[in-house]
Amino acid sequence: MSDDRLIQAVRQDDDAQYEAGLRPRTLDDYIGQDKVRENLAVSIAAARQRGEALDHVLLYGPPGLGKTTLALVIANELGVSVRGTAGPVLEKPGDLAAILTNLQDREVLFIDEIHRMAPQIEEILYPAMEDYELDIVIGQGPGARSVKVPLQKFTLVGATTRTGLLTSPLRSRFGIVHRLDFYAEADMLEIVHRSARILNVPIDHEAAGEIARRCRGTPRIANRLLRRVRDYAQVRADGHATGDVARKALVLLDVDEHGFDEVDRRLLRAIIEKFGGGPVGLNTLAAAISEEKDAIEDIYEPFLMQIGFLDRTPRGRVATPRAFAYFGLPAPGKDQKLWE
Ligand code: ADP
Repeated sequence: MSDDRLIQAVRQDDDAQYEAGLRPRTLDDYIGQDKVRENLAVSIAAARQRGEALDHVLLYGPPGLGKTTLALVIANELGVSVRGTAGPVLEKPGDLAAILTNLQDREVLFIDEIHRMAPQIEEILYPAMEDYELDIVIGQGPGARSVKVPLQKFTLVGATTRTGLLTSPLRSRFGIVHRLDFYAEADMLEIVHRSARILNVPIDHEAAGEIARRCRGTPRIANRLLRRVRDYAQVRADGHATGDVARKALVLLDVDEHGFDEVDRRLLRAIIEKFGGGPVGLNTLAAAISEEKDAIEDIYEPFLMQIGFLDRTPRGRVATPRAFAYFGLPAPGKDQKLWE
């Protein structure tokens, strides 16, 4: 998979320096995801009134939709600080034990990609989440004994792209579970305008609309497209991002009206041309287009399904009539395969 895809939703190097300034800090600033926001507002207010730690929160959904941002917002709204780490970063049980024993009362521990924790590290989390204690085994063999170390009452916020990737003992220990969805276009429009204000980009409504339509309902992609449009406006125009400037910049970047790039097109084309529109299994499809299975499941598929270009059936992935129409092809009849 190429790492420099513009519409790739996973974080890239140059995102980091901009993301800090663009992240909303309060629930009121956090645009869209209304149901999640409302539910969290109630949970947070209740925990604050009782003077207790908020229940553990699991956030799941495709990359770039605001899980990390929401974890920071939760801590901010609770009036506590947050410590962050990620599943793949924790190498030994001691790494996590050290973080847990250092947590202050009611603090938030954010673990990104929580599904990628090693099993022996995950086991440390069970008693920590449930009883706020660590089970430490001292010594080896018959003389080994287990010691319980009490922890402060903390809130774990875990983020993952799919809940199905979590083991059930871990999943069941989260009291609050929320799924983040792709953003509606109106919400994306608001996000683009907000980011443009923060980045000082003069942008008109039409240009913001172009970005909002082509960002796959994903704030991280919208922010990235906005920065590229800003560059284009600065170098090829007078600095103002007008509709015309935005369209030209996006054409140059090869982002089409759905926000598809070359990989999306390759994926759909493969299903249509090589597999008669499907169904085709995920492994076969991944091999056919030389992409990683996980990337297909986490990044491409959810969006293609959301906009009705792809279906997931028990027998595999299927291109919908809308996908055929996108390539200007007639959709095959029910039992007839177009390419045979
Ligand atoms: P994730 O952790 O799900 O991959 P992030 O929380 O890092 O996504 O969000 C990516 C970027 O998108 C953030 O830097 C933030 O600027 C922007 N963003 C995410 N959600 C929102 C939102 N609801 N409103 C405004 N901006 C958002």
